[in-house]
Amino acid sequence: MFKNVGIVGAGTMGSGIAQAVALSKINVALYDINDTLLRQGIERVRTELRKGIQKGKLSQDRFTETVERIRLKSNLSELAGCDLIIEAVIEDLRVKKDLFKHLEQNSNPTTILATNTSSLSVTAIAAGVSKQDRVVGIHFFNPAHSMKLVEVARGEQTSDGAMNSCMEFAKFIGKNPVPVKDTPGFIVNRVARPFYGEALRLLGENVATVEQIDRIARMIGGFPLGPFELMDLIGIDVNLSVTQSMYEQYSGEPRYRPHPIQKRMVESGLLGKKTRRGFYSYEDKI
Ligand code: NAD
Repeated sequence: MFKNVGIVGAGTMGSGIAQAVALSKINVALYDINDTLLRQGIERVRTELRKGIQKGKLSQDRFTETVERIRLKSNLSELAGCDLIIEAVIEDLRVKKDLFKHLEQNSNPTTILATNTSSLSVTAIAAGVSKQDRVVGIHFFNPAHSMKLVEVARGEQTSDGAMNSCMEFAKFIGKNPVPVKDTPGFIVNRVARPFYGEALRLLGENVATVEQIDRIARMIGGFPLGPFELMDLIGIDVNLSVTQSMYEQYSGEPRYRPHPIQKRMVESGLLGKKTRRGFYSYEDKI
């Protein structure tokens, strides 16, 4: 099994993935382009682990050991010794492609390079890498430390070896991985997109309020969170980028059309829990 895993991007997903990996006794090298966000990322890990202590699920020793296993890095080249590098930066093809080129230059030829993209093509992200057989999609769900499902996506040139290693890795850290084809949104985001889109349309047409739609989804639909609560958790900016990307990749398919409400919220900086305001206010909760 991998002994050293690098994670690029210490935001919502990168920090959650770091926590899941470190809890499985694998060393983590965590890097973010933004130093403040890197520190916020490790603080988020501490906060989540403390909740485990409060619930009696985690000992103080395990807390300390897990946090110490995550080393913060201020340079991408410091991830060179990792067996696997997972990228969790913004959902932008240009940024991810560029990053993968750098990762190739800053890693061993045997290092597996994985993307946590929700909607972009693994094959397109791998395009600038000369040995594309080692590029894979490992798509975690939010919150990454607790959600069991992981989609392992095979790009056009991904080798069987890289796929198998990532499937095994996901199982090792306690996840239930499913292999998927490299299609925009894989399985889950394709199924989930209309969940958000229809809720936004209902809201836009004044059919029901945010609270009413969420309550119905939870109480009648049996979902753990309603669509607006989930968008706040995911990040409204991240959700919009994924919708936009899928809309474009499916040639303007109306089911995936981004809604103006979501665009306006992103423009005004209301991004959900991470900015303390989204469809709901979290001012007094964080
Ligand atoms: P986020 O905005 O919380 O964090 C992104 C982080 O990447 C930021 O800290 C930013 O500083 C950093 N970053 C940006 N460019 C970078 C670069 N070139 N090098 C290093 N760091 C860089 O985003 P997130 O919600 O964690 O999403 C990250 C990825 O995970 C996206 O591809 C997203 O689609 C995917 N994803 C998100 C969710 C979710 O629910 N939020 C779920 C599954 C997958």
